[in-house]
Amino acid sequence: MKYFAVLLSIALTLISCSSKEELEDVVVIGGGLMGSSTAWELTKYGQNVLLIEQQDSVYTFGSSFGEARISRSLGPKEDIFSFLQQTSVKETKHLIDFLNRGELQELHSMQDIYTTSPVTYIYSQSQLNNVENLLDGQLDKYEYASNKEEAEEKFGMKISDTTMVIREYKQYTGTLNPKVLIKKLHQGIRKSGNRIDYNQKVTSLKKEDGVYKIKIIDTKTGTNKTIMSKKVVAAAGPYNGTLVKDVAPYFSDLISPERLFLSFLKIKSDKYNMLTSEQIKRLKSSYPVAYLNSDIFYSMIEKYDESNRPLLKVGGHFLRTEIEDLDRVWEKELTKQEILWSKKNTLDYLNKLELPIELYDLEFDRGYSCVYSLTESEIPYVSQAVNNYKEVDSSFVLIGGMSGVGAKGSLAYGLIAADFVLGNDNNSLMYQKAKSVLGTQRLMNDIDNIDK
Ligand SMILES: Cc1cc2nc3c(=O)[nH]c(=O)nc-3n(C[C@H](O)[C@H](O)[C@H](O)COP(=O)(O)OP(=O)(O)OC[C@H]3O[C@@H](n4cnc5c(N)ncnc54)[C@H](O)[C@@H]3O)c2cc1C
Repeated sequence: MKYFAVLLSIALTLISCSSKEELEDVVVIGGGLMGSSTAWELTKYGQNVLLIEQQDSVYTFGSSFGEARISRSLGPKEDIFSFLQQTSVKETKHLIDFLNRGELQELHSMQDIYTTSPVTYIYSQSQLNNVENLLDGQLDKYEYASNKEEAEEKFGMKISDTTMVIREYKQYTGTLNPKVLIKKLHQGIRKSGNRIDYNQKVTSLKKEDGVYKIKIIDTKTGTNKTIMSKKVVAAAGPYNGTLVKDVAPYFSDLISPERLFLSFLKIKSDKYNMLTSEQIKRLKSSYPVAYLNSDIFYSMIEKYDESNRPLLKVGGHFLRTEIEDLDRVWEKELTKQEILWSKKNTLDYLNKLELPIELYDLEFDRGYSCVYSLTESEIPYVSQAVNNYKEVDSSFVLIGGMSGVGAKGSLAYGLIAADFVLGNDNNSLMYQKAKSVLGTQRLMNDIDNIDK
């Protein structure tokens, strides 16, 4: 009898150990910029985190795909997007320090992620109020040309009578590289002993008996498994609506994915090689640019090719089309009109810079389709979920609706999401403002307004 009791106790211990092993503390779903940033911030707080990503360790599609995003800080007084960008820069420094810690030499630097370069904004006279609001009490360093004479004098730019130009100069504004940032976030997560499971696609997410039950398929082998977690962060970008349909069914009504295109253009080498060094310098220091016209044409140098020619990435923030199949949209080729739009707008800008380029000097290198996750106000969510009884579920955090603004604030969104997971708070005025604009109360109001 005593022997049987010992056996039973060993068996019970084994069962409780094995089920304990399968219960994760926090699972973050989605290894793009937002999920990776959140998993890193939780790691920084000393949490046990599992990050799950359906793709392989090299990120090949998704809203964070690519090697350049505009990183800009300029904003009106108490602008949350300036705060998020600046907070993300601070958090990125912390990540770099952590990655270098214990190494014999500095293996990581901020310059791996950020290319500091002036950011050029072009406005029309009808936006004068916005410009005045932006520059009122502005602490960031900038130069402003309110008319064509000043634009010529300050920037060597030829603009029309109805145009104004602002240029922002600040360390770590310019562009940031999402590919490198994701890689370093993953290195930080792993260096702390946390896990990242690649090729794992979540197929079902439900809450049962107070814990989350997450069904997963291995995208390489096709094998299925189920894991349990006390807390979950959903950061699946445009897939968030489908992912959280059983836990936060309203989310698919609040976030809609839309397609955008990106073109990559080069100045043909015979013409590029004829540019003077002063013209090349002017070209390089005039990117990135955002032309705040109705399409919002934006462009930046994605990288340089083997002969040091810039690869110009070109897009239109408001040139969005509907998506028929989210899984296949990434492969959708650009239309002739989209390529022509990219070339014409690039030409217009290069001519403003007084560079002797014609339409036929621009070659289309490649292009791809990409996706914005959009909220009605175009402002993202970082929020605790709300359950069917309109109660806040502090064990589930949603991060999404990042539109075209997410990248520059990546680690700040991740920090706020991690704070929601852990119940941390921060008294800073701007942190509180960001939390209220992105957070739970706003989500509740937006849920109330669905169907109204
Ligand atoms: C064309 C374009 C231009 C942009 N330009 C700028 C810019 O200049 N400046 C700026 O600041 N921001 C910019 N942005 C915005 C920024 O890039 C995005 O806000 C950001 O990348 C969104 O990241 P995410 O992690 O939310 O989404 P994603 O990168 O899409 O990440 C979601 C991840 O979840 C994974 N996933 C999805 N479903 C599952 C599942 N079921 N199981 C497991 N994993 C899953 C996906 O594979 C993906 O890796 C731009 C965005 C686009 C599309």
